[in-house]
Amino acid sequence: MIPHVAIVGSGPSGFFAAEKLLCSHPSVHVDMYERLPVPFGLARFGVAPDHQKIKLVTQVFEKIASSSRFAFFGNVQIGRDVLVDELLDAYSAVIVATGASNGADLGIAGEELKGILHATQFVNWYNGHPDCADLEIDLTNTRSVAIVGQGNVACDVARILLSPIERLRMTDIASHALEQLSRSKVESIHIVGRRGPAQMKITPAELRELAAIDGCSISTDPSALTLNAESNLEILDPTSPQGKTYKLLSEAVSNGRLSNVEGKTLSFDFLRTPTRARGNQHIRALECKVNALRGAPFAQRAVPTSSTVEIPCDLLIRCVGYRGVEISGVPFDSDTGTIPHREGQVYGLEGNPVRGLYVTGWIKRGPTGIIGTNRVDSSETVMHVLNGLSTRIVSGEIRQQFIASLATRGVSAVSWEAWKTIDQYEKCRGSTSGKVREKITSIEELIRISSGYNDSERIIAEHNF
Ligand SMILES: Cc1cc2nc3c(=O)[nH]c(=O)nc-3n(C[C@H](O)[C@H](O)[C@H](O)COP(=O)(O)OP(=O)(O)OC[C@H]3O[C@@H](n4cnc5c(N)ncnc54)[C@H](O)[C@@H]3O)c2cc1C
Repeated sequence: MIPHVAIVGSGPSGFFAAEKLLCSHPSVHVDMYERLPVPFGLARFGVAPDHQKIKLVTQVFEKIASSSRFAFFGNVQIGRDVLVDELLDAYSAVIVATGASNGADLGIAGEELKGILHATQFVNWYNGHPDCADLEIDLTNTRSVAIVGQGNVACDVARILLSPIERLRMTDIASHALEQLSRSKVESIHIVGRRGPAQMKITPAELRELAAIDGCSISTDPSALTLNAESNLEILDPTSPQGKTYKLLSEAVSNGRLSNVEGKTLSFDFLRTPTRARGNQHIRALECKVNALRGAPFAQRAVPTSSTVEIPCDLLIRCVGYRGVEISGVPFDSDTGTIPHREGQVYGLEGNPVRGLYVTGWIKRGPTGIIGTNRVDSSETVMHVLNGLSTRIVSGEIRQQFIASLATRGVSAVSWEAWKTIDQYEKCRGSTSGKVREKITSIEELIRISSGYNDSERIIAEHNF
């Protein structure tokens, strides 16, 4: 009997799991379910628009999807349109690869004020995610932005806000974001972190890119660059990421001081823990405790002192982590925002394995690692899926009946061919204004376009391409 495996989520981890399954088993079939009508998860909606080379990974995913043993069911949300138990009844194995799409809060007073966003919202907004297409972001009345968190997502957010508009115009950035950014009044950005420059999570390549932005000078409190003995040990190896990042930051700060650029400023505010968002209805400042570092090298903790400072800001973006979203019927650890598992085999909260149910990617290990990390992670999960297939095979007829039942319950799935029509349409639409693609940001519009997938000439004529 041919085993059929369902993968829930079409981001990098879902595709890498599909690749491993298809390569490792001669007859397995993979059905991939995705809540949006379009595939690729954060490779489409997370990776920054000015990082088009990284987005080329979608070509690898396209190749995986071209297998005759692969099928795509977009616009099907597991937990809402279909229950996980139904998938478990219809498939030999189910792999959950739903990522981590919720932003983490700071847990401070005043966090409900207007002008405070999660990175997920801001990133989704500029990347044209349907969930945030209507988000009201007014950069024409924004002069100062505080970004909390000193990792690569914070770097992406700062770079998009600081980049000359010409740098973004040809990318696949959403047109509503391009329009706002072209009228932006942002003059200063503060990237705020609890610890010091030796502990910063930003990688050297990302910092180098920030430092290279025309018309932007980088600054920090000079005393923050004077490290304590423990932090000095952390940067001692000049080839380590910490050593390189520290060196780059020191150089960028001294270049900023020398260059006398009259443009935008980017300040790294170290040793600050946010304690309160101040403002009437809208945020106007972020109050922070000033910290000191304590502890052994590579385990330096931020300990608050009695001093406080205020960072003026009209927009606050929280880049302090992503959390997974619970799916009805799937065990969930609400402390970590992940699904409990052992090497990818899902376990119930009472400690028993859930037969046939597996997990991979950010919903498995939390929001860490780059796209490639998910390949290794998915390999581990698939190894256990393959072992399990010898004891749990569901007949293909049951899977067929299940798929047929989707239409009768009003779920209109978007196939891979239908996605390719959307893909062509977006590229075509983008080319009229010199962009890589112009993403469709409305679910209704995406479905309307995909439904004419065997009649793409009509769609193109209709839109005057
Ligand atoms: C802002 C940002 C920028 C990044 N930039 C880079 C970069 O430049 N380079 C790099 O290497 N890495 C980058 N990363 C990391 C990389 O994106 C992640 O490692 C990777 O996307 C995680 O893959 P995933 O499949 O686990 O999750 P995701 O990519 O989030 O995919 C999850 C998929 O599941 C779908 N889904 C969710 N719930 C359901 C449901 N109930 N039913 C059906 N489908 C569902 C989602 O719609 C989504 O398509 C970035 C991450 C972020 C947040």
